[in-house]
Amino acid sequence: MPDLLLDVNIIVDLCAERVPYVGPALEAISRCQQEQGRLWVYAGSVQTIHWVLAAELRRQEEQSGRTLGWTSALDASRKILREFTEDKQWLAALAYEGDVFQSSDPEDEQLIRALDRFGDGEMFLLTRDQALLEKTARAMSPEQFLARDSNSRNVDFIDLKSQQDKLRPALERNIHRALHHGRYIMGPEIRELEERLAAFVGGKHCITCSSGTDALFMTLMAYDVGPGDAVFTTPFTFIATAEAISFLGATPVFVDIDPRTFNIDPNQLELGIEALMSNNPSIHPLPSALSPKGIITVDLFGLPADYDSINAIAREYGLFVIEDAAQSFGAEYHGKKAGTLADIGCTSFFPAKPLGCYGDGGAVFTDDDDLAEKMRSIRVHGKGSDKYDNIRIGLNARLDTLQAAILLAKMEIYPREVQLRQEVAERYTDLLSTQSSALSTPFIPEGMKSAWAQYSLLARDEALRQRIQERLKEAGIPTAVYYPKPLHVQPAFSYLGYSQDDFPVALETSKTIFSLPMHPYVKDWELDRVLTILKEVERI
Ligand SMILES: *Cc1c(COP(=O)(O)O)cnc(C)c1O
Repeated sequence: MPDLLLDVNIIVDLCAERVPYVGPALEAISRCQQEQGRLWVYAGSVQTIHWVLAAELRRQEEQSGRTLGWTSALDASRKILREFTEDKQWLAALAYEGDVFQSSDPEDEQLIRALDRFGDGEMFLLTRDQALLEKTARAMSPEQFLARDSNSRNVDFIDLKSQQDKLRPALERNIHRALHHGRYIMGPEIRELEERLAAFVGGKHCITCSSGTDALFMTLMAYDVGPGDAVFTTPFTFIATAEAISFLGATPVFVDIDPRTFNIDPNQLELGIEALMSNNPSIHPLPSALSPKGIITVDLFGLPADYDSINAIAREYGLFVIEDAAQSFGAEYHGKKAGTLADIGCTSFFPAKPLGCYGDGGAVFTDDDDLAEKMRSIRVHGKGSDKYDNIRIGLNARLDTLQAAILLAKMEIYPREVQLRQEVAERYTDLLSTQSSALSTPFIPEGMKSAWAQYSLLARDEALRQRIQERLKEAGIPTAVYYPKPLHVQPAFSYLGYSQDDFPVALETSKTIFSLPMHPYVKDWELDRVLTILKEVERI
């Protein structure tokens, strides 16, 4: 996947259709696009490009015996460039590229420095300038570019680059604003983001924090969960869900999942609560005698759990419900948004989640004023009226201002991205459910909309899953298994004393489940490649 930074002379060749140079230049950029590379224009060269193109337009007119005034030439140049740059990426000029006056050719030096930001082989400078071609191995003429070995692009499991391409100007503006106002901790972006997120989910309070894991911590701490307390949860989730319970000295009590949704099974949940209340491990596996305190549901792969049933059970037994919406931000349950489906919702902005920042981040949602105030305090060392008034034991769990700035840019297109994920999932499902009997496609109950953090399928058996994963890998298509080991068989939870057959559905699911590339920008050729391979494997 070669990206090309277009030098001024190449841009002018293309825009003024300068013969004989335009031919090879056009061929090179179309090759780059075929190989899924991107075309970049250096923002630091804008004025040069504008003037050089205008001069070239004047020269061409003169050659054909006409004259073109400077004003008209500059107007024409702007118009052409506006169109030309529409489908190109802007490469920002950074401070490091301003300090170039020690060089005999500051403009070349700028470009060379800009290229420094890219890893080996990711970006070439396309130019006809002999001096530049000699100065750096990263510079190539159109002819050299066309003569090199082309390599086809691998499919991304999660394509964060395409998203960045769509958002680059807003992302860079927001990051720079934060750099310049300098309020790196709890800057104005935090409040703005919290308002934005609360409005998006339709909830009263949003408290951003440093990760999805810390969101769970803050929530459990707000409920004073500790030793002797049982918190019911699924064994088929990322470890953070149950880790937070254990870390606070409480005990995760696992409850098996529904084989179709992979989410906690309300019938099993009720059995588990009954077993605990009557201290009767013959009806449900239990780690020890404990007092039931609450439930953490997980909206696995982006699909909300069965909240009507779960909330009703919780009310009956006086338990709290925490929604682990780390994978489901943007999902819907009968018209309500994930994050608001239980007493408190937790989400994560880990980069690979549906809404991710460029580091760790998370948020908590609740409509309960007291819980919200408590969690705001816990987030900052248990603060009272100020930071040096400490009224409880808390955490340092704030979201960075810079991450909030990034999330604000991403929120601009998030609703559209959720929609695009639906479309990708629908295409997978349409094609796979008609062509395949050995794979079961995701089940989405009536009235629910998944955020499609993952598109996960069940293979008929373990051997088929292995064959599929191997063949896809050979074709440059990554897959993943979430989760190869349910939590009740993880060494970290061996102290709970579960046996591997305690939760048969979770165990069986872990043997045959796998996930395909899923993100809003899956392209047709990628989808085709995946489906072609899957078809082939089944025929073998
Ligand atoms: C990712 C994830 C978490 C943890 O989020 P982090 O931001 O990585 O701490 C918790 N629960 C589930 C279900 C997750 O997928």
